[in-house]
Amino acid sequence: MTTPRFYMYQNELVLEALNEKDRYVCFIFRFGKWLHYENVIDPVVTGTHLTETEATAWLAQIWSRDFRQELSTAEAKRKLFCWKNKPRHVLRSQQFDREFLEKYLFCESNRIQVLMAQRGGRESLRQTCRHRILLTHFYEPSTRTRLSFEFAALHLGMHVLTTENAAEFSSAIKGESAEDTIRILSGYHPDAIVVRHKQDGIIDRMARFSSVPLINGGEGTVQHPTQALLDVYTIFSEKKQIDGLTVVFGGDLKYGRTVRSLAYLLSKFDGVKLVFVSHPAFKMGEDLKDHLRERKVEFEETESVNNALRQADVVYWTRVQKERMSEDLAKESEKIISRFTIGREELRNMKQDAILMHPLPRLREIRSDADLDPRSAYFRQAENGLYVRMALLQWVTEPEID
Ligand code: ASP
Ligand code: ASP
Repeated sequence: MTTPRFYMYQNELVLEALNEKDRYVCFIFRFGKWLHYENVIDPVVTGTHLTETEATAWLAQIWSRDFRQELSTAEAKRKLFCWKNKPRHVLRSQQFDREFLEKYLFCESNRIQVLMAQRGGRESLRQTCRHRILLTHFYEPSTRTRLSFEFAALHLGMHVLTTENAAEFSSAIKGESAEDTIRILSGYHPDAIVVRHKQDGIIDRMARFSSVPLINGGEGTVQHPTQALLDVYTIFSEKKQIDGLTVVFGGDLKYGRTVRSLAYLLSKFDGVKLVFVSHPAFKMGEDLKDHLRERKVEFEETESVNNALRQADVVYWTRVQKERMSEDLAKESEKIISRFTIGREELRNMKQDAILMHPLPRLREIRSDADLDPRSAYFRQAENGLYVRMALLQWVTEPEID
């Protein structure tokens, strides 16, 4: 007898184990009923529809005592029988509420961080999502997002498949639509797919055709929700709270996506003030400012780096996204950046307990002489990406419950 496995497979809830005769038994919850299979090498041996009570009795009979006890609780039953028949996509940062962040993401990322620091902890984490499969499908370059997802999956015991340069090395080059591609890929039954794409709005369209959880790994200038999750976790772990903080965003607020995603998340906390510092050519878009007005989040816009730094609890600096603008503006930006650069000198204007963040890669906008200052949190922030993505992968590959 083995410990049962309980997971989502192609939109269906599956419970499987070996019985005392070491025969494979499996239940699939389909169309509101439990189907019972034995010996799938010669598939569909019984295929009987079970009622909830029958399924519970069956499970209790064949599986371990611990599991039987667990199953007797109302919570476990809810888990088994009340899942929603839809994949847990991660499409934009504002889909997450404060409760998810505080009750799940922060605690779980924290727990993972502690376990990852010990060999025994790493070994136990490797059992968490064993044999599940992650596909990373990237149409745009990435170092951190892709590799941290892949490491996260491996540390959870998952298998990883990757298309690193999907724009060139997939059928996209032959003109296949991203929607068709995702239909095919999700049909190969990975447990989750991470996609990065340069086109605004495409990930929502792809999600409609994906029968497995689709994670937005960065989409044009629109969003980078998993970056926002690791950013907000970093703020929480460095500052111990988020309510009431003044967060200064600087650099390229127009073409960057990370500031948008993080601002959406921060607007869910109380008494947060946002300050946007940029050259007029790189100002934050009206849609996000309208959102802040609607939610009554205080914000201001300025071109003065030092005035902004003085009031900051958190400084979030970004690079100019040259790949997303006209060549003329990209050239012009070289001059502009020098006015929007932070180094040791500028750090003097920051509070002693403030932190300096950056989604990376950084170019000239943060000078390397800032790296040794303990307030520079960008490398700790990047490391948090691993823990947060591990917590997220566990969540997306679990069945959704009511
Ligand atoms: N462009 C970024 C990089 O260097 C992508 C990311 O990390 O999200 O990796
Ligand atoms: N790595 C982040 C992103 O992919 C920030 C950047 O590339 O500047 O959006």
